[in-house]
Amino acid sequence: MTKETERSREDALRADLASGHLPHAVLLCGPKGIGKKTLAHEIAMGVLCTSDGERPCGHCKNCRRYQSRSLPDLLLPAPKTGEKTIKTETVRALVDTLASAPLEGRRRAVVIENAERMTPAAQNVLLKTIEEVDDSTWFFLTADTLSAILPTILSRCRICRLAPWSDERMRSALLGAMIPEEEVSRLVPLSGGSIGKALRIHTDPTFYEDLDVVKKTFFAVRRPSDIPSAMKLLREALKDKKERDSRLLDILEEQAELLLRSPEASDAPEIWRSADESSLKRIMETVIRAKAFRASNVLFTGCAENIMSVIAEEIALWQL
Ligand SMILES: [Zn+2]
Repeated sequence: MTKETERSREDALRADLASGHLPHAVLLCGPKGIGKKTLAHEIAMGVLCTSDGERPCGHCKNCRRYQSRSLPDLLLPAPKTGEKTIKTETVRALVDTLASAPLEGRRRAVVIENAERMTPAAQNVLLKTIEEVDDSTWFFLTADTLSAILPTILSRCRICRLAPWSDERMRSALLGAMIPEEEVSRLVPLSGGSIGKALRIHTDPTFYEDLDVVKKTFFAVRRPSDIPSAMKLLREALKDKKERDSRLLDILEEQAELLLRSPEASDAPEIWRSADESSLKRIMETVIRAKAFRASNVLFTGCAENIMSVIAEEIALWQL
């Protein structure tokens, strides 16, 4: 994908903002960490910015208050503390607020991050408002996936799909963030076009340690007889670090995905780089299932042993 087409959807929104033709309901979707929220807030800030020049200017009173999230005409419905979903009562309160004119200016913005967290009932409450958005209100929704958003909501929004960043764009952004060249070369393949993920890995003191555990356990299995020692190492690595298990599954899934996408960029053992696509897919599916089992409290050791058995079976096949 060229830089031009990659950026065009974002630039189209900026152009609509500048020309005053911004749709009143925009839904930004695409994989985690590629900048959906950043873009949603940039455009929403542009809506509320009072500068006569380029918007958002970043300096006017509104822009400054936007940055500290203290602007009354910026509405940010989110799950209540300790809850994972945005419930009906939160959306009802929003709808009530929107029934009156903006508090200060002539415009207001509603940003709903991870809109898929709205329960279906909450989405239904929002529907009427989003169907007939008044001239002073702009909605910005972000979502990693559209499957949990009601089709009736989708049909009212301009859907703007952001694509994963190209390696070139990732490199220049990371170098621009003063991250050393050597680290950038490591981060780019590990983060699959997600700038958010690259920055998370960069600031996460335990990522490489966890990656190392994955290499020494799952990636070390060649045949069924290797499983007991790999499991022993895994149990030791998880001792006193129970939360680490889901993290290891995430890393394993990402590594399998990386091997499928660009094996030369992976630092998995050589034997893995010659793996068949069908084997990698089966291993990935097993990992994804294991994550679902973990979510319903199936013991991690059982899940891990199952993954290792599948790895041993598949390696036997691609070594034939
Ligand atoms: Zn401004």
